[in-house]
Amino acid sequence: MTTTSYVASLFSLEGKTALVTGPGTGIGQSIAVALASSGADIIGTYHHTPLDETKSLVEQTGRSFHAVQVDFADPPSAQQDIDALLKQHTIDILINNAGTIKREQAAHYSEEDWHTVINVNMNSLFFLTQKVGQQMLKKGQGKIVNIASLLSFQGGVFVPAYTASKHAVAGLTKAFANEWASQHIQVNAIAPGYIATNNTQAIRDDENRNEEILKRIPAGRWGRPEDLAGAAVFLSSPASDYMNGHILAVDGGWLAR
Ligand code: NAP
Repeated sequence: MTTTSYVASLFSLEGKTALVTGPGTGIGQSIAVALASSGADIIGTYHHTPLDETKSLVEQTGRSFHAVQVDFADPPSAQQDIDALLKQHTIDILINNAGTIKREQAAHYSEEDWHTVINVNMNSLFFLTQKVGQQMLKKGQGKIVNIASLLSFQGGVFVPAYTASKHAVAGLTKAFANEWASQHIQVNAIAPGYIATNNTQAIRDDENRNEEILKRIPAGRWGRPEDLAGAAVFLSSPASDYMNGHILAVDGGWLAR
């Protein structure tokens, strides 16, 4: 094998099927297209956003795309949808990307918003990982990549449920990794910095907040969804076979500051 083909094989996802939650927009779409470009067929879950654009982008790489509707704010119904999906498909790579955010001062945070954020970002992530993990344990291999956040490490402002849920994502990444590393299932996470997506539209629209954030990012710019593509392929591929429970910041240097 030449050096080039050896390195290419380390990052190849040929013959793999990846389940990506929430690939209709932003980070999820960029990751789904990157995994397909490395050879994986893609299954995407959506709640509201149709996946036609992502399907077209994935199919342009020559890989297949299958969409399934799941509401992660309702964990019992999401679990039924996932059970049905797993009867028909074997998953090699799980990307837990779907996430939501509700902004309000902690003193006025509503119970409804609290439960929605915790259900989508933490509870459904746990149960989906558990179910896909059961399938991977039978197969004796798998890759799981959770999308964490800078708020897996920091407190944030006006987003208490999001912060709690993303700290939990970091904790669950390590908890699952510890149990499954010896079964050849690698569980890791990516902590994106400030990325220009729907999720951050409100703070980008706030001139003062936008300026404050930009000043603090050593790279001097907001991240783009494509900035996460390489890390996602790496953590989904044989190149990361000896990585377990790691949370990889892709943040333009924010945490280093
Ligand atoms: P986004 O474009 O708003 O994507 C969020 C995705 O989550 C959407 O595809 C959405 O699907 C899905 N989702 C939300 N609620 C759902 C529900 N109840 N059931 C099923 N799916 C649901 O924002 P994004 O920035 O790319 O976010 C992707 C991930 O990155 C999230 O976990 C977010 O917390 C994380 N993240 C983002 C940033 C950032 O700066 N943008 C930074 C750190 C971490 P529908 O559109 O179909 O509802």
